[in-house]
Amino acid sequence: MTFSEIVKNGCQEWQLPITDEAVVRMERFSDALIEKNRVMNLTAVTEPEEIALRHMLDCLFLLTVTEFEGKKILDIGCGAGFPTMPLKCYDPNFDITPLDSTGKRIKFIEESCAALDIPVTAVTGRAEEYIQKKGVRESFDIVVSRAVAPLNILAELCLPYLKVGGLFLPLKSKNANAEQEIDQGRSAIRALGGKLEDAREYQIRGMDYPHQILVIRKTAKTMGQYPRRFAKISANPL
Ligand code: SAM
Repeated sequence: MTFSEIVKNGCQEWQLPITDEAVVRMERFSDALIEKNRVMNLTAVTEPEEIALRHMLDCLFLLTVTEFEGKKILDIGCGAGFPTMPLKCYDPNFDITPLDSTGKRIKFIEESCAALDIPVTAVTGRAEEYIQKKGVRESFDIVVSRAVAPLNILAELCLPYLKVGGLFLPLKSKNANAEQEIDQGRSAIRALGGKLEDAREYQIRGMDYPHQILVIRKTAKTMGQYPRRFAKISANPL
């Protein structure tokens, strides 16, 4: 199957409408990723068909979980642009802020968006530091994050950014350690004002394990002392 067929078939299976223009944008981004990956370490996945499955479809499943249109969204630890880029290619008007501590990855996202005529405001910074910027704390409706940290650490990086009522949607593999990771994350989620409402499981062809998106609702304000410095978060997760 071609890149385009993989993306379209996957979306059809999930009853997610997608335009031809969106798929073209995804394929152009995938080509740019493969090209840049020759000189910069951006991804271990290097075949277009694999990018369609493991990067594009994996991230597009987010759109089956909740409405993104009209929401203010933050992608923490976006790397080369996941989930930001599949979502922005799907709808360039989505208001998503990609954030990563590595400037060269953010620059790649900015260049890719410029080439695709997609508006974006990206941030180079650490999640536990950018929160200090005026007006940022508890200002987002949705926070997404994929492959950045275990849930008990990730929750402290992400939940402080959410408004009460907002959703934290970490993308996780449902592997042999998944239940343990969720159990170890429960007390952090509670302490930060969150509540685990659901886990939405899905299968990507060729992957060893199903994947899941955890649906964590912010139900109360996060205490001002969080997030702590990263050394403290990782040495002593909540
Ligand atoms: N989310 C992307 C994906 O799924 O392909 C990238 C995953 S990569 C394994 C983890 C990324 O998180 C790296 O780009 C790293 O720079 C970033 N990162 C790790 N800790 C971070 C922090 N505290 N604040 C901001 N970015 C962070």
